[in-house]
Amino acid sequence: MLNKFQKFFYSKILRRKYYRTGHCLGCGKCCKKIYVKHSKGIIQDEKEFENLKYQHRFYTYLKVIDKDETGLVFECTNLDSETNRCKIHKTRPGICRRYPQEELFSMGGSLSDNCGYKMEPVIPFSEVFLTIQKKETKNKSTKKSWIKETFFKK
Ligand code: SF4
Ligand code: SF4
Repeated sequence: MLNKFQKFFYSKILRRKYYRTGHCLGCGKCCKKIYVKHSKGIIQDEKEFENLKYQHRFYTYLKVIDKDETGLVFECTNLDSETNRCKIHKTRPGICRRYPQEELFSMGGSLSDNCGYKMEPVIPFSEVFLTIQKKETKNKSTKKSWIKETFFKK
């Protein structure tokens, strides 16, 4: 669980709606089903994707394997299909090192089935205060009725 300072930092400074927990299980699923998002949305056709290849080396590793209702589905050619390990692990791009980023999740991305990570919603500060206030009010009224019942019974 995040403490109050972390919640504040995530939601107000980083403007994140989610925070990440868990760890990678090394299943390789996220390298086998990739959607590519750019300024106009998720890539839908190969021509569009060809232009992106000049922008970042990560795109040159990808090959199209399918198309579904979300967009083109890519697989990374650096994934060893036998071990499910990345063949360029030490020099893999930053996007892979930081995966899964909370921002991607906020933009509509999702985690692979049975991924070892989880995305938890960051509760806004106002909501935290409200919960604390409610608890305090409840505690006060419980205390009052206990005092009344114990000391002022007729
Ligand atoms: S899907 Fe999740 S657990 Fe599997 S390799 Fe990717 S990050 Fe790790
Ligand atoms: S470069 Fe490695 S970590 Fe990144 S998507 Fe490809 S196989 Fe996965």
